[in-house]
Amino acid sequence: MSGEILDGKKISHDIQEELRPRIETLRTKRRTPALAVVLVGEDPASQIYVRNKIKACQSLGITSIDLTPPETSSTEDLLAVIQQLNDNPAVDGILVQSPLPKQIDESRILLAVDPSKDADGFHPFNVGNLVANRPAPRACTPAGIIEMLRRYGIPMSGQHAVVVGRSDIVGKPMALMLLHENATVTICHSRTRDLAAECGRADILIAATGKAGLITADHIKPGAVVIDVGMNRVTDETLAKRLIGHDPIRWAAFEKNRRTLVGDVEPHAMEEISSAYTPVPGGVGPLTIAMLMSNTVRLAEEHLT
Ligand code: NDP
Repeated sequence: MSGEILDGKKISHDIQEELRPRIETLRTKRRTPALAVVLVGEDPASQIYVRNKIKACQSLGITSIDLTPPETSSTEDLLAVIQQLNDNPAVDGILVQSPLPKQIDESRILLAVDPSKDADGFHPFNVGNLVANRPAPRACTPAGIIEMLRRYGIPMSGQHAVVVGRSDIVGKPMALMLLHENATVTICHSRTRDLAAECGRADILIAATGKAGLITADHIKPGAVVIDVGMNRVTDETLAKRLIGHDPIRWAAFEKNRRTLVGDVEPHAMEEISSAYTPVPGGVGPLTIAMLMSNTVRLAEEHLT
């Protein structure tokens, strides 16, 4: 079997194009959506993520407000920044890029964001709304995965979904969203006793662990849909060989650059055993930004009424 590639770039593009008329309508009503992106310090990976988010805003005509408090900021300093954004009626969405420097109390920051401006859907109030299946901003990565499964016509109701990972930003909201789609959901984590056996029962397998190549052919039921959320930079040659050695183009790129970006699932296992799968890169990654834009537009529409 050769699995169908689920094209996250295309779905991301479609979602963003569908936002354009809504943004135009908002603009005619003098409510151009505005997203404030707060990046504390100079973490290079975070800088790239933030740059991509700002680019997406620019391409859609969403105003982006880019704030970069210094690495040495205290919790109180950052709370003051958040307060100003909460009080500014022109700001529709607020995103605080993680990870935050160690001295900052992340849970106090999340709690300080006005829930009606919570573009990431991480505020406990909105997490509660997700649990209760009430409308509210949803965590972008899992929301993007649900949107992609819907658009590809992949049934979720009654299917057995296994989510590997239980983080607040991916695993837990993913499991809840699949539950609301009437899937039967199993959540696995680092203490799960027999991961391969649990995963092997999945009609839909979602891997979100941050462990390159953790999920192998032994974990995938033939014909399952496999969603690989992981984004792992690999420099170890042996690991790279196992994961991308079968692909001459990717292997040549590794030999040149001595690094590669891989997911949590062995690519050849997904390609050969699944019925459909998300590649890394080009699968889940682009959906996250599309859903951030979608959340921001939705918040602006709510602020209009
Ligand atoms: P976290 O580190 O917060 O969580 C990882 C989860 O995986 C934990 O619940 C952990 O279990 C579980 N886990 C770790 N090792 C194992 C193992 N051997 N067996 C079973 N479970 C295990 O990561 P995130 O959720 O933030 O991110 C996961 C991955 O997704 C990362 O690669 C990240 O880069 C990527 N990501 C990609 C995004 C995108 O847009 N494509 C967006 C967000 C994340 P335990 O709780 O027991 O420790």
